[in-house]
Amino acid sequence: MGEDSHLKINAAVGDVPSINPRLRRPKRPAVNVEALAQGILAGEDRALAQGITLVESTLQKDHLLKVQLLERLLPSTGKAFRLGISGVPGVGKSTFLEHYGLHLLKNDPTAKLAVLAIDPSSTRSGGSILGDKTRMVALGQHERAFIRPTASGGTLGGVARATKEASLLAEAAGYTHILIETVGVGQSETAVSQLVDCFLFLAMPGTGDELQGIKKGIMEMADLIAINKSEGEQRPRAERSAAEIRRALQLFSGAPFDWVPPVLLVSALQSEGFEAVDEALDRFERHSRAQGWWEEKRSQQNLYWFEHQWREGLWEWAQSGP
Ligand code: GDP
Repeated sequence: MGEDSHLKINAAVGDVPSINPRLRRPKRPAVNVEALAQGILAGEDRALAQGITLVESTLQKDHLLKVQLLERLLPSTGKAFRLGISGVPGVGKSTFLEHYGLHLLKNDPTAKLAVLAIDPSSTRSGGSILGDKTRMVALGQHERAFIRPTASGGTLGGVARATKEASLLAEAAGYTHILIETVGVGQSETAVSQLVDCFLFLAMPGTGDELQGIKKGIMEMADLIAINKSEGEQRPRAERSAAEIRRALQLFSGAPFDWVPPVLLVSALQSEGFEAVDEALDRFERHSRAQGWWEEKRSQQNLYWFEHQWREGLWEWAQSGP
């Protein structure tokens, strides 16, 4: 890893890395919400990283600051394309994010890309399947990319809420594409589907009827499915898997509007099939906007998080009493 990327990724964490856990972290300086908001609105990554650290904080004393910051930034949010990406460990999510992210930035000189993650494993163990800082090195060095490793700790709902707020901050900082990665194990997909406009599910070439662990519920959430690792001699297998998934998709009629998820073949490693992904994402956005579903989904999501916040607040309040 180059010197720069090291600096950049550490800056994105917004904190001093704890090489020796016994060393105490330096005290965080007092937060000036207005200065922080202005830094974020000016597109400063450092301010963005600090803002995200604040919204991730579970400390009572940060609560008001967090609300003030979000209120200040809310008018500057809502313009980004929010894409969720999921798939089982090893399917190639980080390879896809790195190579597709670079492809996107290359093709659109005005694009700015923020990668966030929701990792259910980090909420249980403090360890993480997704949050490895050595991933996405080239993307991490790109001046128009911002990568935020997973917030660990707390409940999945809490981490998902922090990720929602982090994505609002990234939008206010001028990021046009927010990619939210999660690991394909079930619960976290439901949370991510409440955060994004479009959900891309990555699968691998597989055999027979196993569908590579794609559970029905997850399949129903996907707006787009890409079979990764479809290069070279894997191609025929990948095509068979794609046909099988397309057949399975016909059995579901859960889509709230008439969209059949396209099943594409890609190779994240070789950057193959990305134009078809661009085309499908573009078609999805146009179609869902034309149907009024785009706005409808965002207002439903706002309602979901509003209710979620209420429940969480009540729970905290109940727990704080005798
Ligand atoms: P993640 O756990 O889903 O994030 O998966 P990774 O991105 O870490 O990839 C897991 C492994 O699959 C790594 O060894 C990658 O190099 C490899 N991989 C990812 N994408 C491709 C691909 O398109 N083709 C091939 N052959 N290997 C890939």
